[in-house]
Amino acid sequence: MIFGVLLPLPFDEPFDYSCDENLPLGTIVCVPWGKTQITGVVWSHTPSSDCPQEKIKKIIKTYNFPPLSKEIIELIKFVAKYNMAPLGMVLKMVISVKQVFNPEPTENYYLLTGKTLAEAKLKNSDTRWHIIDLLKHGSYTKKEICQGAGCGPSAIDTLLKAGVLKTETKTVNKEIPIKKAEFVPIKLTDEQKIAAEHIITKINSGFSVTLIDGVTGSGKTEVYFEVANEILAQNRQVLILVPEISLTTQWLERFEQRFGIKPACWHSNLSEKERANTWISIINGKAQVVVGARSALFLPYKNLGLIVVDESHDHSFKQEDFVNYQCRDMAVVRAKLEKIPLILSTATPDLETIVNIEKGKYDKVCLTKRFAGAVLPTVKIIDIKKDKPQKGSWGPSWLSPTLVKAIENNLEKGEQSMLFLNRRGYAPLMICRDCGHKIQCPHCTSWLAEHKSSGRLICHHCGYMMNRPKTCPDCHSEDGLTACGPGVERIAEEVSCRFPNARVKILSSDTTANLQDLSSAFAQIEEGKIDIIVGTQILAKGHHFPELTLVGIVDADLSLMGSDLRASEQTYQLLSQVSGRAGRGKKSGEVYIQTLNPQNLVLQSLLNNNRQQFLELEKQTRKMLIMPPYGKLAALIVSSESQSKASQIASALGQTAPNNQYITTLGPAPAPIFMLRNKYRFRLLLKTTRDINIQNILKIWLDKINIPKQVRVEVDIDPYSFM
Ligand code: ADP
Ligand code: ZN
Ligand code: ZN
Repeated sequence: MIFGVLLPLPFDEPFDYSCDENLPLGTIVCVPWGKTQITGVVWSHTPSSDCPQEKIKKIIKTYNFPPLSKEIIELIKFVAKYNMAPLGMVLKMVISVKQVFNPEPTENYYLLTGKTLAEAKLKNSDTRWHIIDLLKHGSYTKKEICQGAGCGPSAIDTLLKAGVLKTETKTVNKEIPIKKAEFVPIKLTDEQKIAAEHIITKINSGFSVTLIDGVTGSGKTEVYFEVANEILAQNRQVLILVPEISLTTQWLERFEQRFGIKPACWHSNLSEKERANTWISIINGKAQVVVGARSALFLPYKNLGLIVVDESHDHSFKQEDFVNYQCRDMAVVRAKLEKIPLILSTATPDLETIVNIEKGKYDKVCLTKRFAGAVLPTVKIIDIKKDKPQKGSWGPSWLSPTLVKAIENNLEKGEQSMLFLNRRGYAPLMICRDCGHKIQCPHCTSWLAEHKSSGRLICHHCGYMMNRPKTCPDCHSEDGLTACGPGVERIAEEVSCRFPNARVKILSSDTTANLQDLSSAFAQIEEGKIDIIVGTQILAKGHHFPELTLVGIVDADLSLMGSDLRASEQTYQLLSQVSGRAGRGKKSGEVYIQTLNPQNLVLQSLLNNNRQQFLELEKQTRKMLIMPPYGKLAALIVSSESQSKASQIASALGQTAPNNQYITTLGPAPAPIFMLRNKYRFRLLLKTTRDINIQNILKIWLDKINIPKQVRVEVDIDPYSFM
């Protein structure tokens, strides 16, 4: 029989292979590919090309796993079509676990072939009989046989050569023994109880989406834990998707306390072996709860019963390399295919979700109060034009006298403070005071940021690094180079100079390179070993700092400046989340927001804790501009090492761009980061009304243009980044 086998490569079509057996669709197989072998999936029962029979290669073997389910096959097809990615690349996200399919060879195991000594023309001997006797009970390694039969290795080799024995290799992947979850109930608050019960009543009626809309610190996690427990009681699997950075010890400990087991984790820090073991326990249905970053959505669960998207507003759910997709939206698709409930959980839902609730597509439950009577922090806005930061002996200052005073008071009370600035390093830019030269990344249209702790200049777009030069690269002035603007390191420097006795800690992706570092930093904070935390958006995610009572936002205008469609929304979310870290314990909290635009509506809404006001305005703006969720967007990014080739294709796309009363194409225009990793980039933006099938339009448009090899045209449906 001939089968179409889909391979995890950038192709849309399966390749033909033959097999004597009839294999069900979804069977995971190993097939020859050029000079090597590759793992693929039986995709069709009919040949996909008219390749002559005799040229079709044979399937090498099938793996001993259940075939991929109908639902996951449908998911792969949907994700590929919706995001305009090759089918094979989406399949890759499902089966990219090298060690499952290419396990590292282990020792050889010896077993009997059935050939007798006489047939092999070998003489009887005690040693030979002992070996044959032993192997009647199973297969063993050479070392085990030597011990068990009291023989030397050469005796085994002789039997092997004569064909009495044969060898097989066994894989190293072991299923991890898994304890059954034993839920430890806690007393829920009335609001939590109502919310949990509401979702639980829907468990058995198939697909549904429910938003847990609860203020920071209201105990949303406890609500979805409660629902998860009901699913586990039905022997079905639970998937909890989180922004990767949330997967700290703090979260895991909380999970373990409630469920009595550790969840299976899925994130980029796993070793190949851990990945393989986890994948196997997922496809076999042994893993009860899986918690992971966005790629966990594509694992082959045996009997998935619930998906939770925690911090569902978070932009890290949008993947922007390799296959572009919005994990939250694809999670909805998966829940629909699997006919199961999905829970979104956040204090700052995105407009897309809110509009779906208004249309009645999604349901919602609300938690309006913080747990244990904790109150939301009070917010104060500081106009830094009036309340100007005052220079000190260390140099320029970024903290207004009001904020400095507040930190001082907090220190005196022995309470914890946190300063937030979404910028890594010491300074975003170095400039020469003598000649005005600015140090730029050689590979990108971007300045190099100074990182004082490592003595380096780093490009935050491509990772390029160089040692901080002693003299200006242009005029060679020896004392001209000056840091320009602040990053977290510089704020920490100022704080340390102002409060020499305070224990200051910087938290950014530079200082906490992995989840372990981050976990130990959080533990230090929790234990009260830190007085002032200075950090980037790493601080915004759902962590619980019970002792923290003061939050200072150093530069609220930073993220508002972005020209992208969601800049206001993202600022609102980020600042509410950061503010939400304060006053979660017994003591109440205060938030200070420094800005040049105190009248800005985002900040005013935060000041008045009036989310509705912000959302209404944001809705109006987007409606007027026919932007998502009221319209659809797709971006095209044309890139090439050759500027002229990129520009040529971009203008060809511009000339053939669809434009009518429902469709507008903007661009081509040079991308804000014109050069990235040595590639020149142009962007086009396609905007349509909701009822248009934007993928069809794109396909027709792209099919008209012949794109040469040196040029890449990337499609980004529902783009989040406009760089
Ligand atoms: P959110 O995710 O809504 O910001 P969390 O779920 O992190 O809030 O809860 C905040 C804190 O309150 C956590 O330390 C949590 O353990 C605690 N908490 C919430 N609900 C309860 C409850 N019913 N009983 C005991 N502790 C709770
Ligand atoms: Zn760069
Ligand atoms: Zn200079």
